[in-house]
Amino acid sequence: MEFLEIIFLGTGGSLPTKRRNLPSVVVKRGAELIMFDCGEGTQKQLIYAKIGINKKMKILITHMHGDHVLGLPGLFQSMSLLGRDKKIELYGPKGIIGFIESIERTVKYGRTFELEIFEVGDGEIINDREYKIISANADHGILCLAYSIEEKDKPGRFNPIKAKDLGIPKGPLWKKLQLGNNIKIKGNIIKSNEVLGPKRPGFKIVYATDTKPCESVTSLAKNADVLIHDSTFGEDRKEKADEYGHSTANQAANVAKKSNAKKLVLIHISAIYEDAEDLFNQALKIHKRTLLAYDLMRIKV
Ligand SMILES: [Zn+2]
Ligand SMILES: [Zn+2]
Repeated sequence: MEFLEIIFLGTGGSLPTKRRNLPSVVVKRGAELIMFDCGEGTQKQLIYAKIGINKKMKILITHMHGDHVLGLPGLFQSMSLLGRDKKIELYGPKGIIGFIESIERTVKYGRTFELEIFEVGDGEIINDREYKIISANADHGILCLAYSIEEKDKPGRFNPIKAKDLGIPKGPLWKKLQLGNNIKIKGNIIKSNEVLGPKRPGFKIVYATDTKPCESVTSLAKNADVLIHDSTFGEDRKEKADEYGHSTANQAANVAKKSNAKKLVLIHISAIYEDAEDLFNQALKIHKRTLLAYDLMRIKV
C-alpha cells in the first residue's frame, strides 16, 4: 500500500501574508508527488517542507489567476539549476500552454527536464494503474477546475501463515499473490483470495478552490476522505464571497456535509483574516471533522 501524505505548502488566497503563502498543496504518494496549484513562493515552501525536487511529479492547476500559477516559472528555474532530469506532467485549463510558452520565449532558464503540458476540461483526466484523477468545473467566474485523486481499491492484506500452510515458498510467488494474481504450484491453482483479506478501499482526496459552492464540486467530492475547499471569507463577507466567486467557511462546511466528505480542510484564507479562528468555528458548527489549514500542515494517511 502506497504511503500517502498531504502537505499544505500555501494556504492563503490572492495576497500572501506573513503567515500564509499563496495556494499550493502537495500529495505525496509513495515516490510520486501530485501538486495542486503553484502560487508564487511555492519553491521555497518545498524547501521548508523538505520535499525533494527530482521526484516523479504531476502538477494540476485549477485556473489562470496569478496566485495559482506564478510559482511555476521560479520552481522550474530552480529545478533546472539543480539538474532535475525527470519529466513533469502539467495539467491545467485552457491558457496553461500559452502561459508556459510565453515565459520560455522571454526568460532563458535552460530547462533541464521534459515538460508535458495538457489543457484539460472536466472529466477523467488520468487513469493510472493505482489511481484516477477526475476534474469538475468550479464556479469562479472564469474557467476553473476542481480535482479529485481517487485511489483504486487495493488488494487485501496478505496472510503469510496461510501461504506457508499451502506450501507456497516465500519469494516471487508471494509477490504475485500479494498483487492479486492467481498462481500455479505443483499443478494446483491457488487463488489470491485464499491468502488475501478483504479488498481495502482506496483513498479519495478532493481539491476545490477557487469556487462558490456548486453542484459539480459537491458531486465530485462525494464520499471523499479529505475535501480541501475554498474558504476565503467568513459570514461577515458573504456578499463579497459571492461577488468574487469564492466560498465562506459556512458554505464550505455545507458542501462537505452534502457530499458526505469525511474530513474538510479550509483553505485559500483571505489576507484580511489575521487569525481565521472565526472561520474555523463557523465551519465546525456545521461539519464536525473540519481542519483550518496552515502553511506546512501535514496530514498523514
Ligand atoms: Zn485564488
Ligand atoms: Zn481565482
